Amino acid sequence: LYYQPKIDMRNGDILGMEALLRWIHPEKGLIPPGDFLPHIEHSSLIIDIGEWVIETALQQALQWQAHGKGWCISVNIAARHIQMPDFIEQLKATQQRYPDMPAHLLEIEILESVALNDVEQTRHLILEVQQLGIDFSLDDFGTGYSSLKYLKRLPVNTLKIDQTFVRDILEDKDDRALVNAVIGLASAFNRKVIAEGVETWEHAELLLQMGCHLGQGYGIARPMPADQVLDWAEHYRLS
Ligand code: C2E
Ligand code: CA
Ligand code: CA
Repeated sequence: LYYQPKIDMRNGDILGMEALLRWIHPEKGLIPPGDFLPHIEHSSLIIDIGEWVIETALQQALQWQAHGKGWCISVNIAARHIQMPDFIEQLKATQQRYPDMPAHLLEIEILESVALNDVEQTRHLILEVQQLGIDFSLDDFGTGYSSLKYLKRLPVNTLKIDQTFVRDILEDKDDRALVNAVIGLASAFNRKVIAEGVETWEHAELLLQMGCHLGQGYGIARPMPADQVLDWAEHYRLS
């Protein structure tokens, strides 16, 4: 797992890390998830991997806590995994293995498009996850055609604005309008909002002006191996 920081762009506070899979291949080197996940996301392997991701991320978060870093940790969960009938039971069992980890520091991210497959089922799942004290966020928000009606039925903690919209806000006024709309939507529904794909400090400044304080992206930090994170945090300053 690699980890990418999420920060408060107003002051540079580090809020947490998103765990992102990497396959370190003996000959081919580092393979990004986009190159292997599509081949396994319809097999049960994706469930084993997802369990491993949650477990590893929790262990890592506890290690950082021992260094005084109470960061939240976000994990990405695939459609097939989240739709398993025993998903909640397994999650609870995993949680119980780490009693020192405050529940609210774990966050589950699922794609907006997956959430919309079956809005009522997703709604139940979100409520059950939140009952465990765990946060829930909708990833790639804006790509899945959520209607206001659906958003009302999906009581997620956070909307994650898709990076394809964020990337072009400096040049493209339609993307800027879209990002503005998502920020407004989040505020109207009293949800948190985070921008992904913050590639430069100009992006961060514009997002701040638009009222989005939370950000993640190459302009802040690239995803990095766990053993580089503390060092990065030590030296990170707002640009
Ligand atoms: P995602 O969840 O939307 O994660 C964000 C992706 O954007 C990551 O790609 C990250 O490296 C990249 N990124 C971050 N900041 C920037 C930026 O400023 N500019 C650009 N161009 N890209 C940025 P990555 O790590 O290749 O992951 C791709 C996707 O694979 C993820 O998208 C997620 O959907 C999936 N994925 C990653 N790890 C896991 C996992 O453990 N389980 C599951 N089921 N899916 C995962
Ligand atoms: Ca994600
Ligand atoms: Ca995303």
